Amino acid sequence: MTAPCTIDDLEHADIRHAIQVADRIWWVGHYQEKDTFQCHVYLIEQGNQSVLLDPGSVLTFRHTLRKIEEIIPFSQIRYFICHHQDPDITGALPLIDQIVGRDDAVLITHWRTQMLIKHYGLRMPFWLVEEHAWKLPLEDRTLEFVFTPYAHFPGAICTFDPVSRVLFSSDIFGGLTPEFSLVAQGEAYFEAMRPFHEHYMPSRDILGYALQAIERCPIRIIAPQHGSIIPEKLVSFMINKLKTLDCGLYLIAYGDTDIRRLSQLNQTLRDITHTMLIYRDFHDIADSLLAITQRILPATSLEFYARLDEQKVLHLSPESRYRGINTETPAVVARILDLDHKQWSELHVTGATEFMLASDSDDALALMLPLFSPAQGTAHAVAIIHLAEPVTSSDELRQVIEQMSVPLQVAVEREVIYRQLDMERQRIYERSIRDPLTGLFTRIYMQEVVQRLCDIQDRNPGNRVAVLMLDIDHFKSVNDTYGHNQGDVVLRRVAAEILSSIRGSDIPMRLGGEEFAIFVVGDAVAQATVFAERLRTQVTAIRFEAPMTGRMITVSIGIAIRQPQETLLDLVQRADTALYEAKNGGRNRVCMTAETVVQLQPA
Ligand code: GH3
Ligand code: MG
Ligand code: MG
Repeated sequence: MTAPCTIDDLEHADIRHAIQVADRIWWVGHYQEKDTFQCHVYLIEQGNQSVLLDPGSVLTFRHTLRKIEEIIPFSQIRYFICHHQDPDITGALPLIDQIVGRDDAVLITHWRTQMLIKHYGLRMPFWLVEEHAWKLPLEDRTLEFVFTPYAHFPGAICTFDPVSRVLFSSDIFGGLTPEFSLVAQGEAYFEAMRPFHEHYMPSRDILGYALQAIERCPIRIIAPQHGSIIPEKLVSFMINKLKTLDCGLYLIAYGDTDIRRLSQLNQTLRDITHTMLIYRDFHDIADSLLAITQRILPATSLEFYARLDEQKVLHLSPESRYRGINTETPAVVARILDLDHKQWSELHVTGATEFMLASDSDDALALMLPLFSPAQGTAHAVAIIHLAEPVTSSDELRQVIEQMSVPLQVAVEREVIYRQLDMERQRIYERSIRDPLTGLFTRIYMQEVVQRLCDIQDRNPGNRVAVLMLDIDHFKSVNDTYGHNQGDVVLRRVAAEILSSIRGSDIPMRLGGEEFAIFVVGDAVAQATVFAERLRTQVTAIRFEAPMTGRMITVSIGIAIRQPQETLLDLVQRADTALYEAKNGGRNRVCMTAETVVQLQPA
């Protein structure tokens, strides 16, 4: 037997003998070759009242017995604690039952565990934790039982020793270790715990409940039944990590027994979901999806084609930083888009895979992955995973791809919805800023764009802004004489005249009825009156067809130059005042406000 002074010394302890883990607490397990489970048995040395925890299996018991005898005679053990009913804990009970020579020996379990263990037909009586207030008083300590139901058995318990502060945790904190290691070697041990808990613990909620109960104990050492002993410095790390674990992995496991790979796949799926939750920009999502894909495939890049509407296909590729609409759909993608599941599988009668290995050119390899819309049941998008080297089709790859396609489908579909909303918003905006009759901008546009021009002027006063307010004279009489349709013709002809005479930097708009405004900026401001005069003359020259043959249309124009910091509303109102003057002055003329006159005078 070995008695190391600190837990770290345990690493070098001789596992052929009993090893002291804490004061009067001994590891009496047995190292099983090629067994990633490694079932541990512990002994609490208490003279004639000693305790054996999770006695072990038929395979290991003779080794355990030898190690116990290194410390105390087996007959000194009175209590046999079984944290749950599994054969690697209770398999040795019939052997023990035969060699226990004392009448006061008891089997300590939970009543639900008793229901199963009683089928061994043992002579030894049960001692049920719930009938003893969940406590076992011993010579120098009182053990406390912690109820951890359904993790992974309804009667599962753990034992805590408040004196040594060792938690005998049974399955919880167990690990699948490829190499035997009595003490956990740093935080990396969590990766051994991960697949064990993901598969053996039914759900995060249930494990969380057990962890809550465990956390109430001031633990110094965790002595699990499998894997490695966890020293104090790693205890809170392991507990916190376990709280975030996805348990119940068997739900996606089907027939697969490679639990490490399933664990990795599960991690990947969780990361994809997480990616979609935290990123809004598809560029970030795609980058993250690529990094995740690279864990399982030699992927070099990802691109997507997704149906936007009947005609348009959205192309999301790293070249365009995952932006832009591409109507040029490659033939191979066009063949897959809109297929239903049946048509897709018919396309692959020979391949028998859920994906297609395609090479767009001789040296480029790619996996084509149709993304089926759950609503329509057709492939609304295609994901292309470009590969650095060919991958061979296998059940494993198929499973990985199958699992990935759902989150990918959701990511792309979400992006398509965003794009469709953007397009719809753009359409509505276009409609709101363009007057359908004349094609000129509307008031809504003025508020937005002209306001921006004013802001520019305020930052750079040299950038002047002026407005020409224009109103058709006696327009009502056109309507009254020739009808409303003819009135519309006049409105369109005047608007066309405005459009043909403005500069590229001018902003023409129809404010409503037969009122128009033209905003001019920069150098054009100095020419505002000249421009207004020319426009006025041009309108008088418009020649109309029947029934308006020979009828002349005139306009009145008011001009205002924007004063520093002047609001758009004030500017327009001043131009309106000038227009009113023009009307009062007899119409068919250009008027400007007093400041405008001053400002337009040559220096
Ligand atoms: P003034 O010289 O003082 O500007 O007189 P006016 O007749 O041109 O002005 P008023 O404001 O009295 O009449 C404008 C008319 O424009 C009244 C309205 O029915 C008509 N109108 C407004 N919008 C439209 C339109 O979209 N099409 C047609 N045909 N007429 C319109
Ligand atoms: Mg008018
Ligand atoms: Mg009017």
